[in-house]
Amino acid sequence: MHVAVNAHVTKDNIEGRVATGVTFIKNNKKNTVYAKRALVLSAGSIGSPQILMLSGIDQKEHLESFKIPLLADLAVCRNLEDHMFSIICGPINISEAFTEPRGRPL
Ligand SMILES: Cc1cc2nc3c(=O)[nH]c(=O)nc-3n(C[C@H](O)[C@H](O)[C@H](O)COP(=O)(O)OP(=O)(O)OC[C@H]3O[C@@H](n4cnc5c(N)ncnc54)[C@H](O)[C@@H]3O)c2cc1C
Repeated sequence: MHVAVNAHVTKDNIEGRVATGVTFIKNNKKNTVYAKRALVLSAGSIGSPQILMLSGIDQKEHLESFKIPLLADLAVCRNLEDHMFSIICGPINISEAFTEPRGRPL
């Protein structure tokens, strides 16, 4: 396996319905690598859909607005929801805070 560090993928190359490789930028140069067997897209919950969109997979109207040639009219990343959380601060008694359910200190 070859690992390219500081390389930014700009597109999955897809021919027909087969992903054949990726285009990436490294040292300001555009490169293409070809997959021997399969392509694994694992750029995270924001990066992966972005790469799919840049590759031409998303809803037609969205891709048209960026002049990206359409490959597949599919809804990508339409159900992403940020986790809601809040931090509540207040004074606590440490010995009571770290106890087992029955009240024994851990
Ligand atoms: C604040 C926070 C707290 C979390 N806490 C927990 C926890 O306690 N326990 C737990 O199990 N999970 C936790 N998660 C979730 C966990 O981080 C993710 O599920 C996990 O990191 C997903 O791994 P991944 O490899 O799919 O994606 P990521 O870890 O997101 O890795 C994606 C990689 O792709 C790279 N990338 C993106 N776009 C491109 C591109 N165009 N070209 C090249 N590289 C690119 C990114 O730089 C990144 O290195 C947390 C997430 C967050 C945000």
